[in-house]
Amino acid sequence: MKLAQRIGHITQGGTDGWEIYYRTRDMIAAGERVLTLTIGEHDIGTDPAILKAMYDSASAGNTGYAFGPGNQDLRQEIAARVQARTGVPTGWDNVVITPGGQAALFAIHMALLDQGDRALYCDPYYATYPGTIRATGAEAAVVPTRSAEDFLPQEATIRALAQGAKTLLINTPNNPTGVIYPRATLEGIRRAVEAEDLWLISDEVYDTQIWEGEHLSPRALPGMTERTIVVGSMSKSHAMTGSRLGWIVAPTEVAEAVTTLTTNTTYGVPAFIQDAALFALRQGPGFEEKIAAPFRRRREIAMRALQGSNAIRVIPASGAMYVMLDIRATGLSGNDFANRLLDAERIAVMPGESFGAASAGHVRVALTIADDLFEEAIGRLAAFAERATG
Ligand code: PMP
Repeated sequence: MKLAQRIGHITQGGTDGWEIYYRTRDMIAAGERVLTLTIGEHDIGTDPAILKAMYDSASAGNTGYAFGPGNQDLRQEIAARVQARTGVPTGWDNVVITPGGQAALFAIHMALLDQGDRALYCDPYYATYPGTIRATGAEAAVVPTRSAEDFLPQEATIRALAQGAKTLLINTPNNPTGVIYPRATLEGIRRAVEAEDLWLISDEVYDTQIWEGEHLSPRALPGMTERTIVVGSMSKSHAMTGSRLGWIVAPTEVAEAVTTLTTNTTYGVPAFIQDAALFALRQGPGFEEKIAAPFRRRREIAMRALQGSNAIRVIPASGAMYVMLDIRATGLSGNDFANRLLDAERIAVMPGESFGAASAGHVRVALTIADDLFEEAIGRLAAFAERATG
């Protein structure tokens, strides 16, 4: 008996770049102190008031099968929020609730791609992107970006790769780079997808973590509402990673297609989680700022500590919970730097190579430990890089 080729096809037999993460986990299990700046998980749990809303809803009997595409009140709340932030008329029927942003990413690629279609995504990328695309049976093709251009995708590069492709996946604010795509970049993307008639999938799960400039949703650009699907999530904005609540915002016929899929796969999100998400969203922007504040502070700490370094160039991090460091002056690859830093200093960061070829020679630092520990870690990382540079 054999497993389906589909599964091997997801990783294409390669490693998934998470060796550092597993090494760190083993060290911690062996009782070692490791300052862990690897994954994008808050150092706080879900707010007790949100947990109470969850408990109250479940206690009131909302424990049965939930309505497939999501409760209308939650879909309406998300639609109103998107409309208020972008000015684009958005109704509840443009929104489908999914178990997290990851399920939304999978569902939308499934809804738009046929076997053998080509789907574009930008390098460096969030770890699951290529696997998510390949899981649909489509061909995942990278749009390379350059460190010297702050990893912003260029119109000409997209156009050169877009012929025959069906979708383009972008992410702003970006994981792993922390960069927010400026209007000019999004205009270039708009021209490219219009010229080649692509769907644009815009992953905006970090849209509440903005440190400099502003977040623009490409769905709001002229002519883009009908070809753009936005992916959103409660994970980052409300520290609800484990609750698994995300969504797509899409033209209604696309939302209906996603509903057909989710009915036959995930069959909805628990109603008490949806009620907790509704409660959380109704706490307003002040609550979201409170969740984002620690990352804002730590990004400042990192910028201060690395200013003037001869060994490290900080990619201008304007949003999300990461800073990306160009460590090529040390002569080390991102992998070697991360492994040696872990061995010598017991500090864990992600090698840029695990996010794609474009960020080789870089490391990603997650802003996810307490300020004093973070300051210690970044100071020691900077000193380690200086020593390596010689
Ligand atoms: N997109 C990006 C860019 C992410 O970083 C993540 C999580 N790290 C997700 C999507 C998925 O998040 P979730 O499934 O928790 O909503």
